Amino acid sequence: MPECIFCSIVSGEIPAEFVLRTPAVVAFKDLNPQAPTHILVIPTEHHENAAELAQRNPGQAAAVLAATEQVAHEAGLTDYRTVFNTGALAGQSVFHAHAHVLGGRDLEWPPG
Ligand code: 5GP
Ligand code: ZN
Repeated sequence: MPECIFCSIVSGEIPAEFVLRTPAVVAFKDLNPQAPTHILVIPTEHHENAAELAQRNPGQAAAVLAATEQVAHEAGLTDYRTVFNTGALAGQSVFHAHAHVLGGRDLEWPPG
């Protein structure tokens, strides 16, 4: 998919501060962090959102979920929040499936 910023990060065309790279997933620091730790975990394949990823490539969906725990642990977190925004009204701005891993401060519930 041309013009997808996260596909460009996977391919290395756009630089990012990587914390994990496997054949299935890459994880990197969010450019605009909303918490002291804010990491994005994305599948290497392009899928529009988390549900589409799970339907079309369950293995990569599972790899994304497993990686959220790994990057949180490596960031020193035991308590953290994993967020998948789906659709613009829910705050999705990049239409390549991604998990936000947020932590390092108290996180309120319900979210805004
Ligand atoms: P969404 O709003 O789609 O759930 O999350 C997209 C996230 O990607 C946002 O938190 C935004 O800050 C982050 N982001 C957008 N473009 C880039 C980029 O080029 N590099 C990095 N590291 N993060 C990005
Ligand atoms: Zn993409």
